[in-house]
Amino acid sequence: MDIKALDISAKLSVDASATEAASQDFGHIVKAVPKAVLHPSTPQGIAALIKLSYYYSSVRFGIAAKGQGHSLWIDVLNKTLEHGLAPVSWADYLYLTVGGTLSNAGISGQTFRYGPQISNVLEMDVITGKADLMTCSPMKNSELFYAVLRGLGQFGIVNWIRVIYSDFSSFTGDQELLISRNGRKDNNALDYLEGSLLMDQGSPDNWRFSFFQHLDHPRIISLITEHRIIYCLEVVKHYNDQTKNSVDKVMKQILQGLSYMPGFMFQKEAGYEEFLTRVRSGELKLESQGLWEVPHPWLNLFIPKSQILDFNDGVFRGIVLEQNITTGPVLVYPMNRQKWDKRMSAVIPDEEIFYTVGFLHSSGLNDWGAFEYQNKEIMRFCKKAGIMAKQYLPHYSTIDEWVHHFGSKRKIFQQRKLQFDPRMLLSPGQNIFNNN
Ligand SMILES: Cc1cc2nc3c(=O)[nH]c(=O)nc-3n(C[C@H](O)[C@H](O)[C@H](O)COP(=O)(O)OP(=O)(O)OC[C@H]3O[C@@H](n4cnc5c(N)ncnc54)[C@H](O)[C@@H]3O)c2cc1C
Repeated sequence: MDIKALDISAKLSVDASATEAASQDFGHIVKAVPKAVLHPSTPQGIAALIKLSYYYSSVRFGIAAKGQGHSLWIDVLNKTLEHGLAPVSWADYLYLTVGGTLSNAGISGQTFRYGPQISNVLEMDVITGKADLMTCSPMKNSELFYAVLRGLGQFGIVNWIRVIYSDFSSFTGDQELLISRNGRKDNNALDYLEGSLLMDQGSPDNWRFSFFQHLDHPRIISLITEHRIIYCLEVVKHYNDQTKNSVDKVMKQILQGLSYMPGFMFQKEAGYEEFLTRVRSGELKLESQGLWEVPHPWLNLFIPKSQILDFNDGVFRGIVLEQNITTGPVLVYPMNRQKWDKRMSAVIPDEEIFYTVGFLHSSGLNDWGAFEYQNKEIMRFCKKAGIMAKQYLPHYSTIDEWVHHFGSKRKIFQQRKLQFDPRMLLSPGQNIFNNN
């Protein structure tokens, strides 16, 4: 059997421009050049390719879906907004594919209230590693549904607030208090909550988006100079025409009793869509300066609540200040484990509250090694200090590392792989089951 005999052969490219374009991702660190690239226009086209590899051992090859090729989240937003609706749970950046974020989890400031994106899926059409096209949901083919996975919003305007702390335990204490109010109908529940580190990087804003007004920069910078790291809590409450008269009062109630630094509360308003697409303007600016397609040695972690203060002491106030190379956003915010479905493949810490910490570094073409070194230092520190960190969006090169990562979920993950992709055809580059 020859691949050229397939109906889809016209959609297969083997020329260097196509294979080269598919060989890299946003990280710009790992490169894997495929033999050919399929640009499918139907699910049947994808199934035909998998079938060929599944049934003909003489031509067997691995197949990986490449995201950012179709069905982006931004299209989902635009389409649902036409009906006055929108999903409730998002990633910070919407120019990612639906398949791509659902293969990970999809987290952002809404996760504490609505769960990650994977907790908000009702049904999916999936093509398995046996080339079967299957519809799955919690009721139908549920094994497949949970194996693959790792609403209604209020629209109009968002009331967007940032407050600043010099003390990490006050910062996390307030974050935890705020996410404890997470009922869908709770008037004092926020619609979004994140947090970040502000360090000496020239400006309190970063590439992702500008928030602070220029006239506020000097006093924020002098606070950073005094404390070296300060912590910024960011919250949002949606409102519309019916609720606009009460939103300020509600926000005041929500912030009452918090321990942020007096005088360091900053507020602005934005359209709902403008808020959700906030990272896009940063991307376009970097792109125009040739700074978007650069290496991104990112490290994303989930840290149990009971160990986040140790993490601050050892990593933020230890490694990060010592190495003094961190540039760009460092996110830190908590989530509730109960909003994650434990039947899904995603791996999270065992505690009811855990934090996500994201070092979203950009580097020059030749100096990403220093950031990778720092990332490894952080992982080494966690191991030594007994901090049960779990990586989100991990890249491991050995099966042993994946075994450690999955922990108690390894067995069920392996069983599901054998059930739905027994010849190990899909996403071989992850090295979860076979070292390449
Ligand atoms: C600028 C930027 C900001 C980000 N912000 C966030 C954030 O706020 N929150 C968050 O959770 N993540 C965030 N991420 C990470 C993001 O979730 C992952 O990078 C994800 O992998 C992106 O998906 P992608 O569309 O680029 O797909 P890819 O990275 O190409 O794919 C990811 C995985 O999914 C598989 N896959 C893709 N499509 C399909 C499909 N249709 N069917 C089956 N498998 C598929 C691929 O084979 C691969 O294994 C961000 C990434 C970037 C680049």
